[in-house]
Amino acid sequence: MRINSLLIHGGIDGDELTGAVNIPIYQTSTYKQESLGETKGFEYSRTGNPTRYALESLIAELEGGKRGFAFASGMAAITAVLSLLKSGDKIIIPNNLYGGTFRVLDKVFKNYGVDYIIVDTTDIKKIKAAVDNEVKAIFIETPTNPLMDITDIRFVVDLAKRNGILTIVDNTFMTPYLQKPIELGADIVVHSATKYLGGHSDLVAGLVVVKDEELGEKLHFIQNSTGGVLGPFDSFLLIRGIKTLGVRMDRHNNNAIILAEFLKERHEVESVYYPGLLNHKFHEVHKSQAQGFGGIISFKLKEEVDYKVFFKTLKVITLGESLGGVESLVCHPASMTHGSIPKDIRDKVGITDNLIRLSVGIEDVEDLKEDLVNGFNMAVR
Ligand SMILES: *Cc1c(COP(=O)(O)O)cnc(C)c1O
Repeated sequence: MRINSLLIHGGIDGDELTGAVNIPIYQTSTYKQESLGETKGFEYSRTGNPTRYALESLIAELEGGKRGFAFASGMAAITAVLSLLKSGDKIIIPNNLYGGTFRVLDKVFKNYGVDYIIVDTTDIKKIKAAVDNEVKAIFIETPTNPLMDITDIRFVVDLAKRNGILTIVDNTFMTPYLQKPIELGADIVVHSATKYLGGHSDLVAGLVVVKDEELGEKLHFIQNSTGGVLGPFDSFLLIRGIKTLGVRMDRHNNNAIILAEFLKERHEVESVYYPGLLNHKFHEVHKSQAQGFGGIISFKLKEEVDYKVFFKTLKVITLGESLGGVESLVCHPASMTHGSIPKDIRDKVGITDNLIRLSVGIEDVEDLKEDLVNGFNMAVR
C-alpha cells in the first residue's frame, strides 16, 4: 500500500474479535491466563496493551522500521532511546535542537556519565572532527527547531556506519508522510507525536521506531523496565489523528509556502527561515531527502517591531507552546520552548529575542495573512 492508504489501514486494521473498523480502547491493566503462563500475547499493560500495540505496529510500518514503541510523551520516548547509552559514552547533538532534548542530556544524563558534544551538524566535516572512540550516537533533527537548519541524513548515516555509531533522527517536524530517515539508513526515529501525528493539540505522546529486531529487543526492555508507556485512550486518539495526517500535511505545506513568500516580502521582517524558499541555504539538501517542506516557519522581526505587541494583537493565530496542530500557533523560542538553553548559547546559534516561530495551521490562509498584517501594523514602533 502507498502512504495515504497505510495511514488508514496500516498496522492492525480494525478489531479481529468483533469486526469493529476501529481498534477498541482496551482499558485494562491485566489479562486472564488460561493456565499458568498461557496468554493470548498480553500479560500486563506496561509490557503490552492491544490498543498501544496497534499504534506501535502502525508507526513502525509508516516509518519503514521493524518495531515501534509508544510513550507518554516525546521526552519519555527520547529518554528511553538515550537510555541505550552507558556511562562514559558520548553523543553528538546539533547546535540548535529541541530545548527539552538538550535539557535532559545536560541536566539528567550528564549525572550518569553520558556526555554530549554540540556540533553544527549541517557541516559533515565538523561531525567527522567530533567523532572519537567514546561517541556512540549522533542525534539529529532536520529541520532543526527553531532555525530550520537541514542536516544531510545520508551523509550522517554514512559516517556513523563507518564508525559503528547509532544514527537517531527526531522526525517530529516532517513525519513519515514527508521524510523517512530509516529508509535513508538511520537506526532509530523518534517523534513527539504530540505535534503533527496527533495533529489536534489534544494529547501528549511520543513514538520510537527502530530499524531492526536487535534494537527492538533493547528498546522493549527499556520501555518495560522504565515504564513511561502511553495509555490506551491516548493510543486510540493518536491512531485517529494519524488517519488524517496526509490531508493535513498537504494543507500545512500549501499554507506555509504561501506565508513564507508573504513574510519574505514584508518590510517588518528581517529574515525568514523556511526550507521551501528557493534562497534557503539548504533548500536542495532538504529536497533530496524529503517530500515536502512542512508547516513550520521561523522569522526574525526588525528592530522597530515590538514582538510583545505583535503577539498580543494576533487573533486567529494563538500564542502558545507546541506546534503541528490544525490551528496556527506562534511562539517566542528564546523565552518559551528554548528558555532552558543558556542565553549565550542561544545568541550564538541565532535564537535571538526577535525570533518568532510560526506553526502554520490548516485554516484559510487569507485569514492567517490578515492576522499577520494586523499584528505588524500594530507592532511597528
Ligand atoms: C515537542 C518536541 C519534543 C518533545 O515532545 P513532548 O511530546 O513535548 O514531550 C521533542 N522534539 C521535538 C522536535 C519537539 O518539537
